[in-house]
Amino acid sequence: MAEDSIAVVDLDRCQPDRCNYECSNFCPPNRTGKECITQRGADADVGGPDQIQISEEICLGETCGICVEKCPFDAIEIINLPQELGDEPTHRYGENSFALYGLPIPEKGKVTGILGPNGIGKSTAIKALAGEITPNLGNFDEPPEWDAVIDEFGGTELQPFLKGVRDGEIDVARKPQYVDQIPDSFDGNTRALLESADERGVVDELAERLSIEPVLDSDIDTLSGGELQRVALAATLARDADFYFLDELTPYLDIDQRVTAARLVRELADDDRAMLVVEHDLAVLDLLADSVHVAYGEPSAYGVITSPKSTRNGINEYLKGYLDNENMRIRPETIEFEEHAPRVASRSETLVEYPAMSKTYGDGAFSLDVEAGEINRNEVLGIVGPNGIGKSTFAKLLAGRLEPDGGDLDLDLDIAYKPQYVEVDQHMRVDAFLSSITDDFGSSYWETEIADPLQLGRIMEQNLTDLSGGERQRVAIAATLSRDADLYLLDEPSAHLDVEQRVLAARAIRRYAENHETSVMVIDHDIYTIDLLSDRLLVFDGEPAAHGHASTPLGMRDGMNEFLANLDITFRRDENVGRPRINKPGSQKDKQQKRDGEYYYT
Ligand code: ADP
Ligand code: ADP
Ligand code: SF4
Repeated sequence: MAEDSIAVVDLDRCQPDRCNYECSNFCPPNRTGKECITQRGADADVGGPDQIQISEEICLGETCGICVEKCPFDAIEIINLPQELGDEPTHRYGENSFALYGLPIPEKGKVTGILGPNGIGKSTAIKALAGEITPNLGNFDEPPEWDAVIDEFGGTELQPFLKGVRDGEIDVARKPQYVDQIPDSFDGNTRALLESADERGVVDELAERLSIEPVLDSDIDTLSGGELQRVALAATLARDADFYFLDELTPYLDIDQRVTAARLVRELADDDRAMLVVEHDLAVLDLLADSVHVAYGEPSAYGVITSPKSTRNGINEYLKGYLDNENMRIRPETIEFEEHAPRVASRSETLVEYPAMSKTYGDGAFSLDVEAGEINRNEVLGIVGPNGIGKSTFAKLLAGRLEPDGGDLDLDLDIAYKPQYVEVDQHMRVDAFLSSITDDFGSSYWETEIADPLQLGRIMEQNLTDLSGGERQRVAIAATLSRDADLYLLDEPSAHLDVEQRVLAARAIRRYAENHETSVMVIDHDIYTIDLLSDRLLVFDGEPAAHGHASTPLGMRDGMNEFLANLDITFRRDENVGRPRINKPGSQKDKQQKRDGEYYYT
């Protein structure tokens, strides 16, 4: 085969007892008597003896691709690799399995970012840098020793780091991607978890700065996702390590908390430690990282980690879909940001007008005041503001699930709601779950509008309980948009989605509002997602857990100004791709924009 191709067989999907080997029956080399697609046989290292393997020497490559078409279970991928990659991968898990090219370079005193989709080998790379696996340089039959790996990276900045890994000199602290799983592995309260990690004696300070003091005595399994995220971050940063790996900092955190998290990571880098961060909130990655590696490829087939780029160039190239140094297109289209002209609502477009109202919870600990406003048809209303400020309370008032103080609010709106924390306890396949929600399931309209942009194709046959956080999020968004309702409310749809998935989901949500002349409200803390999605903004401010205030819905410019003035953060636009970037506090631009009252759209 073309030397630069790989064949990947997904062993969870390959079920020869149900397909009668359609792949090998039609494989052209097999038909001429060659052993291209064969059974693995009894002495296979991985996979069942009846499952197939593909000889990458004999296979004709992507231009043939007959087996890919014939396999009824989508188990096979044949991929022509970019020629620039060179010969062997850094690591390959085995015959016809995932291949990783390149490694990120952790640097003392620096925050290094990785920007790319899920399933592209980031965790594999970290396992190598943590010394948990020795990269096999593609030779999984006779894995090389560390010295060969170190030679392979000779002359690069990675070499001294890898020597440290070989000699067991690198201590690693790691924050997992899915914090929701922490209660499964830890029994006890927050204080006990933090104290068990407190090698640097800094837990009290971290708890204060991350505002986790109120939950120090709470059992870990009672914490919300946002609380767990901050506790997990504190526990990781409290360790005394050389190399810290943080797989997503921001899910479930509001902007203020995101900025605090970024600051804490930076401070530890300033203490001469190496920080490596995977982050899909681009405003935060931009703020946080000194340099970024772009990761690209074909999720679950192969992944390439580029050499480091300046953070600005890395993010810009990623958004443009073209890597300058590598001369490589990684996506057919560019992700663009544009300023929205605030729409003017005409009366005919109004879905509902709601009066000014307030809501105090029984014990008076929290109260919310809402200014009167209207929600239009055919619009996405972005909702922004800190956690614990009354956003969900507002939604419950609209839905009639709560009554405002002193009266009945008879809006009678049917609201389809996606909660912030998507919990799943149903043992059901994704396709069965979604078809139980809508009769449109499987129609070409539903496929184009919902399933395709949310990339559900490959997970339809999986069980809900087996899905990763990002997969669960996409199924939950699809389920909510598939319901019949007057108003759709999505709470943090960006959580655990990678950048491209965020963009695709934002597009699907917008298109849904337009095609159905319906109204969608989206609560989110990722400023890029809010920017891509919203026609207008509803801004919440006040004091979390004490008092909240909701503005009347505002145009994007006024809304962003009000929201960001509360946070004291200004954004400028990157002159190249138009994406918003946080200004350095006190910089020329920051001061000028604050004077002008233009916090976002300059
Ligand atoms: P990411 O961290 O970018 O989401 P991972 O490094 O976890 O990606 O995984 C990349 C690919 O490698 C996935 O398709 C995964 O299925 C595959 N993979 C991970 N671990 C193994 C393993 N032990 N054996 C075979 N394949 C694996
Ligand atoms: P947000 O959606 O902005 O995070 P919420 O509307 O969920 O905020 O909550 C606002 C405040 O009201 C929080 O302090 C929360 O603890 C409190 N709260 C929410 N629901 C109740 C309730 N049923 N009884 C008492 N307090 C509540
Ligand atoms: Fe055989 Fe599939 Fe390769 Fe074609 S692409 S030669 S069918 S293994």
